[in-house]
Amino acid sequence: MAERMGFFTDTSVCIGCKACEVACKEWNQLPDDGFVFEATSYDNTGMLGASTWRHVAFIEQSRPVQLPSADDGAEDSVDRWLMASDVCKHCTHAACLDVCPTGALFRTEFDTVVVQSDICNGCGYCVPACPYGVIDRREGDGRAWKCTMCYDRQLGGLEPACAKACPTDSIQFGPLDELRERAEERVARLRADGHEEARLYGESPSDGVGGAGAFFLLLDEPEVYGLPPDPLVTTRDLPAMWRWAGAAALSLAGTVALAFLKDGSLRRGGRHHRWGR
Ligand code: SF4
Ligand code: SF4
Ligand code: SF4
Repeated sequence: MAERMGFFTDTSVCIGCKACEVACKEWNQLPDDGFVFEATSYDNTGMLGASTWRHVAFIEQSRPVQLPSADDGAEDSVDRWLMASDVCKHCTHAACLDVCPTGALFRTEFDTVVVQSDICNGCGYCVPACPYGVIDRREGDGRAWKCTMCYDRQLGGLEPACAKACPTDSIQFGPLDELRERAEERVARLRADGHEEARLYGESPSDGVGGAGAFFLLLDEPEVYGLPPDPLVTTRDLPAMWRWAGAAALSLAGTVALAFLKDGSLRRGGRHHRWGR
C-alpha cells in the first residue's frame, strides 16, 4: 500500500473563482449541470452531484461585531462571504463502499475511494449510505459517480486537477499526515491572528467516519457550509446485525432439525405399532 494521500481544503483562502470546479469537469469530462443561474447566489451548482465532483459553496453572512472605539459595547455588523470547495471525503470507514454489491466501489492503493462506472449496475445502494450526500446517480445514465481524487492522474504521478488549478492553494494535495500537520499549524496561526472561529473538520481519526481523506479548515460551524456536524458511518451496525442474523439462522436451523428428528421418531413409533397388530 502506498502512502495515504488526501486533500486539505483551507477555506480561509478560497476566493470563489471556481477554477477547481472547471478543472474537475474538464479533466474528468463531466457533463454540464444545466447552467441554472437564479441570481440569488453565485453558487450556481448548488450541491455535489453525479456531474459536480467539486462544489464551491457561497455563504453570505452579516455578523454583529463590537466597535473597537465604543466603550458602551455598541455594535455594528460586518458582511462577509464564506467560500468553500466541497468534495467527497474519501472516508476511512466508507459506507458507500460497504454496501456496494458489485465491487464497483473500491479502495485504491492511495487509500482513496473510487467508483468504477463500467462495473456499477445502478442499484443506488451507495447513495443513501453516504453520510455527506456525496455520491449520486446520473439522470439518463443511472450509474453512480463521484470524485476519484483523480486516481488516473495520481497513477501518473500528477496531483488532482482541482489542486493543480487552485490559484490560492486553498486546495492542497499530499500525504495525509503531512496535510494534517500543516492544517494544525494554519489553524493555530489564524487563531493567533484573532480568527477564534477557525477550526478543522474531518481531520480527526476518532470522528464518526474514522477521519476523512479530504478534510477542511472552516471559519464557522460545519452546518453553515451544509456539512453534517457529527457524521456517522451509516453501516456501523452491520457487523452486529450480521451476528444477530447468523445466530437467528442457526437457531431456526436447530429448531427445524429438531422438528424433523421428532417427526421421524414418531413415524417409526407408528410403524412399530402397525407391525405389532
Ligand atoms: S464521502 Fe460518501 S461517497 Fe465519499 S467515501 Fe465517504 S461515504 Fe463514500
Ligand atoms: S449504484 Fe453502483 S456504485 Fe452504487 S452500490 Fe450500486 S453498483 Fe455499487
Ligand atoms: S480554485 Fe481554489 S480558490 Fe478557486 S474556488 Fe476552488 S478552492 Fe476556491
